[in-house]
Amino acid sequence: MKITDLKCTVIGRNPVIRILTDEGIYGLGQAEAAKTYLKPHVMFYKSYLMGEDPTDVERVMLKIRRMGSFKPWGAAVSSIEMALWDIAGKAAGVPVYKLLGGKVRDTVRVYNGAVRFKMRGAEPEHYAENMARMKASPENFGLIKQGIAFHGTHMIDAVPDFSYANKQGGAPHPNRGPLTERGLKHIIACVEAMKDVLGDEVGLALDCGPGFMVPDAIRLAKALEPLNIAWLEDMITGDYTPYVMADLYREVTRSTSTPIHTGEQIYLRQNFRELFEKKAINIVGPDPADVGGIAELKWVAEYADLHGILMAPHGTGDGLIGLAALVQVGATLPYNYIGFEYPTGDPAWWYDIINGLPDPIVKDSHIEVWNTPGLGVDFNEKARQYLPEGDEDFFD
Ligand SMILES: [Mg+2]
Repeated sequence: MKITDLKCTVIGRNPVIRILTDEGIYGLGQAEAAKTYLKPHVMFYKSYLMGEDPTDVERVMLKIRRMGSFKPWGAAVSSIEMALWDIAGKAAGVPVYKLLGGKVRDTVRVYNGAVRFKMRGAEPEHYAENMARMKASPENFGLIKQGIAFHGTHMIDAVPDFSYANKQGGAPHPNRGPLTERGLKHIIACVEAMKDVLGDEVGLALDCGPGFMVPDAIRLAKALEPLNIAWLEDMITGDYTPYVMADLYREVTRSTSTPIHTGEQIYLRQNFRELFEKKAINIVGPDPADVGGIAELKWVAEYADLHGILMAPHGTGDGLIGLAALVQVGATLPYNYIGFEYPTGDPAWWYDIINGLPDPIVKDSHIEVWNTPGLGVDFNEKARQYLPEGDEDFFD
């Protein structure tokens, strides 16, 4: 089998790729909804793929993996890797999980990082009210993640004198700086209010940054110890940080019993090495659509397990093809697996244009692993109407 074409378009806000072959089998991949600009990055790799056998996934990846990087380049490489596995599975007539070593679980646990309701404010009562709505959502999530502190600008915009740093705007998560006492106390009060709602029925994880200074990160993690938070995510580095800073994470992690988590923006197994070997974190959360693909994510999970580090993959913006990739790889991960961040179809018409997903998708915070070949999802005829101008031939 040979690759004959690589196509990329943006459907809704998600970049979608299609790899075509001379045997009529094609593969699909998807990148995060925030990367509406990704098409040129994807097309950069086309010349490396043409004529290659897509079922030799690793041989193809060796040609392009070195040509990627942290966000956004890793997303292009990762979406191509997903599509190669989709083809390899279809060609073999087996679901992708079989090619990754087989499943170790029949249902995969997910956590809520994408089912969201508008916040009415940034006071503790608003966090509590919002958490109650998420707790009541029909997926019956066993673990919910909420953004606080420097994650986004919601809390910074609403709380006067939150930090000693000047407020920044623009790029995602632009703020970073020392917390005031008022800022620290505000965060703790909001977390306590959310825990009052969840009790011990539903776990609470917190997306915190990037942007913390080490002393503040330690103070917050220690203050939250009695609350048994599932994890504190991305305090030092995080989304769109193109470096790892393992020593700083180590200082925080070794100072507290609250689990410390990072990794959504990190590209390739090599860039997790310091975090793991220095025992700098407790939980790692790579995104299959940024880390280099689903086999790369499995490799990172296995290596994390050797170091006593747990696995909770990122995925909030990965869309419904990304969801299929997360389910396939999630089925194969070792026992250090907690759950992956459940992506939703956004806009909601995404659910009308994709076939192959269970209905409902999530039952009691779990998704049953399906057994159709490849990733097991495909577009139906209704998808064509959402193709942007200039990409009308995407499905041809
Ligand atoms: Mg995050």
